[in-house]
Amino acid sequence: MVMQAGDMDRPSGARAVARCTELGRAPYSEIEGGLFRPYLGPSYRATCDRLAQWMSDAGMTTRMDAAGNLVGRYEGLAPDAPVVLLGSHIDSVRDGGFFDGMLGVVLGIETVAHFARQGKRFPFALEVVGFGDEEGSRFPSGMLTSHAVAGVLETPDPAMSDWAGSATLASALEGFGLDVGQMQAASRRGDPVLAYVEAHIEQGPALEAEGRALGVVSAIAAQHRYRVTLRGMAGHAGTVAMKLRRDALAGAAEIILAAERVGRAGTDGLVATVGSLDVMPGAANVVPGDVVFTIDVRAGTNATRDRAAREILDIARDVAARRGLEMDVALQQDLDATPCDPELTDLMEQAVRDVTHAPATVLVSGAGHDAMIMAHLAPVSMLFIRCAGGISHNPAESVTDADTDAALRAMITFIGLFERHFG
Ligand SMILES: [Zn+2]
Repeated sequence: MVMQAGDMDRPSGARAVARCTELGRAPYSEIEGGLFRPYLGPSYRATCDRLAQWMSDAGMTTRMDAAGNLVGRYEGLAPDAPVVLLGSHIDSVRDGGFFDGMLGVVLGIETVAHFARQGKRFPFALEVVGFGDEEGSRFPSGMLTSHAVAGVLETPDPAMSDWAGSATLASALEGFGLDVGQMQAASRRGDPVLAYVEAHIEQGPALEAEGRALGVVSAIAAQHRYRVTLRGMAGHAGTVAMKLRRDALAGAAEIILAAERVGRAGTDGLVATVGSLDVMPGAANVVPGDVVFTIDVRAGTNATRDRAAREILDIARDVAARRGLEMDVALQQDLDATPCDPELTDLMEQAVRDVTHAPATVLVSGAGHDAMIMAHLAPVSMLFIRCAGGISHNPAESVTDADTDAALRAMITFIGLFERHFG
């Protein structure tokens, strides 16, 4: 698509992509030649200023909430109208892509800009939220600020140090004129919030494989992460006969392949991964004595995840017993599935069908998103946008203008359908 003069004056997918790209470099990034936008850094401030300008151009009033999230509001027909929140996150991982998070914020602004140009008002206000901390790339937190908005933030530790050791949560907030003791006041619990709608790049290859621009998320995956320790017997690689060995790594290898087999046989978005493995003593001439590895199991429902995890661990116990290995299993991460709201998901499917003239691909999000936290506050819906090669958390992250335009039209259509549904 060739941009015509004047195209940048009206909401479009191309403008959304151009805006995300603009925000991919200084002063909106803290590193040269790439993007790093941590929560409450100088690049975060510059980005909020730029976004607030675009929000204001789109007819919104803007404010920073008590947790440092940027919020733009487009009034409804009545000043006390309930609210539909559109959003995603502003922060990025180190050397991340331009679109993870930011595309959802910018598409929220484009959606409102579209209605503002028509002078269209709804029986609800539209607010665009840019969450400050989703990635945990400044503090060891992750989704800290959507917890605050959803009213599920436990008292934060003011002394929590950032990864660089240069600031605490309290001092970073203070730099923005905010008080860590007031962070929970960002909660929207008392407000009539009708829905939270998040557009996000897929960060996976499913839509590309199916030749679809857009997908509708049915649930954010349930996750179990285990830390497994296998103990055998270290010995000389030259002198310990094969049949006398208790090789912990060979046992782990069997378990890793079993996890892959179980994952491959599953439905419901099931995936199983061994992503980390330490071998001790880890020398070329020593039979591995101890191995520590992780097993990460995710699926669209808790039941599917639980069944798969049980199957993998049963196999692991058999392998350990047969090979004379001791095994310890610790559950390190236990996250329930977050189903998206079924009615909103139906509306989003309908919006995607209307826009793409094809059935909507419905998929489970294997990655976590602010929507899973916001589900504590309101019904949530998520729209996924195809990204090249499924690549994310990487400077090579990319989306097309055409796909992004389809996403914008789906968001606009969704709001129209929601209005009818609401009325
Ligand atoms: Zn993200």
